[in-house]
This record gives sequence, structure tokens and C-alpha cells, in this order.
Amino acid sequence: MSQDKLVDLLKAEGVVKHQDVESALRATDRRAYCPAHLPAHYVYQDHPLPIGYGETISAPSMHAICLELLRKSLKPGARVLDVGSGSGYLTAAMALMIKPNGKVIGVEKHPELTEFSTRNIMTVSPELLESGLVELRSGNILGQSVVQDNEPQFDAIHVGAAAERLPDILVQTLAPKGRMVIPVGPQWEHQVMQCIDKDASGHVHRHNLMAVRYVPLTKPGEE
Ligand code: SAH
Repeated sequence: MSQDKLVDLLKAEGVVKHQDVESALRATDRRAYCPAHLPAHYVYQDHPLPIGYGETISAPSMHAICLELLRKSLKPGARVLDVGSGSGYLTAAMALMIKPNGKVIGVEKHPELTEFSTRNIMTVSPELLESGLVELRSGNILGQSVVQDNEPQFDAIHVGAAAERLPDILVQTLAPKGRMVIPVGPQWEHQVMQCIDKDASGHVHRHNLMAVRYVPLTKPGEE
């Protein structure tokens, strides 16, 4: 298996639909974002895999589904927030969709995983970090200081961990005409992927999309 074969499969299954998503996935080799000891036959399977600290890199099909859902907001110049950036895989893939300008901010609560994702991106796509297109921050998104109130809002927000309830703090930081995808539901139980659209006048529309299973989005002090 290889990244190209994996993307071919996701395309044949109809999970990857659009050219911009396909290109971003082909250019972001999952090998570079998985721990080095994992053999290739795991890396290119459509499964989540452990990345340490009890966390996982999401399944490639979930990455693809989220990119497809967010693609209209992932345009050059966009401001993007990736909550629970973990391995850095989706942070890097989203950066490829918004380049040459704009910004993807990845926020990760485990400092060791922020380091892991920094190393992963520096190894294969250092220009994403060096140009400032990608910024990786360490901290809990539900705490006070990771994203400041006075920072511009985000056109796209991806949340890679399941919230028990839709966090207000994330809805507030979503820009008008922006979209957020977030799994919502109880820890380790049935969760639903939700799509949150903010219209031009700031009204919020929620849609339930599909049943999913994600690691929990923890509150400060819970981890
Ligand atoms: N998209 C990432 C998903 C990693 S798993 C990938 O595919 O690699 C989800 C991540 O969310 C975990 O690394 C976990 O540490 C992080 N996380 C959970 N709750 C968080 C919070 N409140 N703030 C920041 N990161 C959080």
C-alpha cells in the first residue's frame, strides 16, 4: 500500500469527491504523521492508530470526510482552527488547501504531541511552518488563553475530539459565513458529527451528519 493507493480507494468509495481534497490528501503522506515503528501495512489502512498519550491519528476516511465538509471554507487566505491537532496530519492537509496565504492554527493539549506534529511537518513540509501558514500551539482550547478574544475569527474550524456539548467558545470564534465540523456526544459512546454553519448575520445552523467515535475533548484539569 501507499498514500496514492489509499487515496485511490477513498475515491472509489466516494469518500473523496473533489479535486482540491484529493490533491491535499495525496500530498500529505500518512506515513510521515504516524509513529515510525508502525509498519506500512497499518499506516495505509483506513483505521485510527495510536500516536501516544492515549490519543490517535484519525482514520483517513474521517480526515477525507472533514476536508470535504470544510472545503468551501478552505480557500486561499482563509483562517482555520484545528482543535486537537494531534499528529498534525489534518493541519498540514488544510494548509495545502489555503496556501499561498491564510493561516491554520493547530491547538493540542499534550505538549509532547505538539512537538510530535512539529517534527512531522518539519520533516516533510517545513515551508508550512517556516512561512507562518501553519502555527502549532500547545494548550487546552477550553481554557482561557490558547486563542485570544481579540484574534480574528475563523472561516473554518475542525475539531478532532468529541465534545459532550457544543462549546460556546468555539461557536463565538467562528466567523460569519464560516463552518465548523465537530463530533458531539458522551465520552466513548455514541457521538454525532455535527456541521455548524454561521450565516452572514451571525445566526447559527446545526446539522447532524453521521455517527462517529472520537477520543474526548477534555476540559482543563480533566486530562
Ligand atoms: N486530527 C488529529 C486528531 C488527534 S486525536 C489527528 O488525526 O492526528 C484528538 C486530539 O485532541 C488528541 O491529540 C487530544 O490530545 C486533543 N485534545 C483533546 N481535548 C483537547 C482540548 N480540550 N484542547 C486541545 N486538544 C485537545
